Amino acid sequence: MNLKDMKIVVTGAGSGIGAHFCQKLVQHGAKVFGGDIDDTSLQKTADSTHHLDGSFHFKNLDVGKEESIASFIDWADQSAEGINGVVSNAGILDDGLLVKRDRKTGEIIKMSAKKWQRVIDINLTGATLVIRDAVAKMMGRKNPGVVVSMSSLARHGNRGQSNYVAAKAALAANTVTWAREFGKHGIRVGAIAPGMVETPMTAAMNPKAKDALVSAIPCGRIGKPQDIWCGLKFIIECDYFTGRVLDIDGGLGM
Ligand code: NAD
Repeated sequence: MNLKDMKIVVTGAGSGIGAHFCQKLVQHGAKVFGGDIDDTSLQKTADSTHHLDGSFHFKNLDVGKEESIASFIDWADQSAEGINGVVSNAGILDDGLLVKRDRKTGEIIKMSAKKWQRVIDINLTGATLVIRDAVAKMMGRKNPGVVVSMSSLARHGNRGQSNYVAAKAALAANTVTWAREFGKHGIRVGAIAPGMVETPMTAAMNPKAKDALVSAIPCGRIGKPQDIWCGLKFIIECDYFTGRVLDIDGGLGM
């Protein structure tokens, strides 16, 4: 598919990787429909794209709410006169050990079900419902479509991230499920699994832990949103790519 022909939904469009995707897509002439829970950040993405070739349209979206997703996708599909792509990118972290012993008191502390569920609700259920509703619009149309979700290197397991790992592993596995389900409708499915990328999400990390991770990256540096854009561009443009997770991690996961 050509980037300039894309009429594509991007969630989490207000910050980090999602905001960069929007800028690059618009720069290449695409019509982008960006959603985010944070209106101020969406406006910033809009401001950064208005001089470029394509167009950026935006609306508040909470991927934690099914009705919000439905009305967002209805709006995007109507405004676009038919979307042909979706990047289900919005995600959050809420790290913690599943069970830990408090160093001072010796007390056993369990991850709350709420903390577990919140990350699953946004990163897995929300990301999936965005794809479900977008595909429901694209299916049955003559034009091809593309679906991209954001997995993570963490899908292989990472200490202190059981909720996030579960969500990102499920998205990776369902890349195959959905490629098999949607292929006959002309819809391709891919996922990107970044390693560690410099965004507001990773800015909140403990600096010591971050330095230790960066020093283990064979490419010798933390990733940039631009590195992840290379993967999205490839997935959109390569009509023979489907059902696969693209690892873009500077070799960290080897
Ligand atoms: P980020 O925190 O910079 O941006 C995430 C965006 O999602 C924010 O604009 C936020 O407002 C939005 N968002 C959060 N909750 C939402 C909700 N309920 N509804 C709608 N929007 C919501 O994060 P990022 O680093 O750009 O990450 C983007 C994606 O890439 C995420 O899915 C993340 O898990 C994944 N990822 C990131 C890294 C990394 O190192 N940064 C690594 C692997 C995977």
